[in-house]
Amino acid sequence: MNWSSSSKRFLTLGISETLTPKPAISKVTNEQNDASSPSKPNVNYDIQKPISPSHLAQDDPKLTPQDLIYSSIPSTSATNPTSPPSNTSIEVCECILTLHAKNALESIPDFPHPILRPSKPAVRIATSRKGGLGMFAARPLRAGDLLFSERPMLVCPQKIPLKLQLLGGSVTDEELAKVVLYEREMLMQESCRRMSKDARDAYMALVSSHAEDGSGPIVGRQRTNGYRFKLPCKSLNSSDSMTQTEDYSGVCDMGARINHSCRPNSTRTFHEPSFSFQFYAVRDIRQGDEITISYVEPLLSTPDRQAALRPYGFQCKCSSCQHPRRSDERRKSILQYVPEYHTVMWALRNQAGSGPGVKTIVKRIQAQLDLIKGEGLQTTSRFGEHLVVLYVVHRWIGKEKKAKSYEEMARRWAIAKGSDLERELARISREGLALPSSSG
Ligand SMILES: [Zn+2]
Repeated sequence: MNWSSSSKRFLTLGISETLTPKPAISKVTNEQNDASSPSKPNVNYDIQKPISPSHLAQDDPKLTPQDLIYSSIPSTSATNPTSPPSNTSIEVCECILTLHAKNALESIPDFPHPILRPSKPAVRIATSRKGGLGMFAARPLRAGDLLFSERPMLVCPQKIPLKLQLLGGSVTDEELAKVVLYEREMLMQESCRRMSKDARDAYMALVSSHAEDGSGPIVGRQRTNGYRFKLPCKSLNSSDSMTQTEDYSGVCDMGARINHSCRPNSTRTFHEPSFSFQFYAVRDIRQGDEITISYVEPLLSTPDRQAALRPYGFQCKCSSCQHPRRSDERRKSILQYVPEYHTVMWALRNQAGSGPGVKTIVKRIQAQLDLIKGEGLQTTSRFGEHLVVLYVVHRWIGKEKKAKSYEEMARRWAIAKGSDLERELARISREGLALPSSSG
């Protein structure tokens, strides 16, 4: 499609691919380490609201809440001298935020909070059998244990709106994509310039798997290593409630070292008060085992996962990828299972737990749990839901020992997902299944 020169286009400076880290498989070459700007695309265009540092000054009276500003989230170690030492020396985060998001963060009392740390170091970085560096368990870990927390080095919005005006000729989609990447690189160059030398060196030491597609050195690394997360946005009118969120991408130093698996043993959550990612174990991990995370939607079929992983430039060799037929059948069954909250609640109320209805449903859920464990998919919300349902059902039928065991597993799962058991119980309750009233 060609766009005529006279038309003005509202261009979304967004990256459509999943933004998750890539393993440090290849060494950083000199070429990749070159932070020089890419040349401006050969398209005659102008942007109505140019994004240059002078337009990102917060005191500009013409700024609207959706406009972007550069912001530095400071280190909190100075304000919390009792905090154990950091995993990483980089705690100042350079951000490109909307005024809306900045306003929401500033409304958090005592922002930014100290970063949560495990009582003793849980992980270490070493050479991985997958190639390059990886992260490993420094001690035996249990599901729900905090591995580490990290404030990202650099944060930018997933989408940056631009009003682009073509000044002559026409432009193809491919040329337009180059404009988008170029403008994004220019925007992020200022963030990199604001970083400390240590942070900038750490950022440029990351691998870029987008060196050949028109991404500049900074955007390439962000697209390869960025973790997606949401920030609330708060209207500048403080009486409005905080309901909307915006999508951001954050690049971590340590977090970027975690390699991919379709059977991940860790998960991450973004903690707004400390402006940090928290990484948790989702199942028990032996000392020395590699920590893994999924870069793609884990319930996809093997061919779909492999296609989604292609931009990262490696092929997954996990046991699910090596036995795709069996794995795809199991993942399909996990995906197709329809939760039976109302049915199980009805069975519990009408049969007091002794009838075959409850037993049958419990067996079905336990079979689902086994499938999920077999596929190493404890990160999925289905795993947590099943644990909560089994906890509730066992409370109803008076099997206290089993109830306690499921309660503990559900509690640990909820922590790893940045939630808590009470919130998960409330969610299940809204779906029609609640604890017996004597349980409170
Ligand atoms: Zn795999």
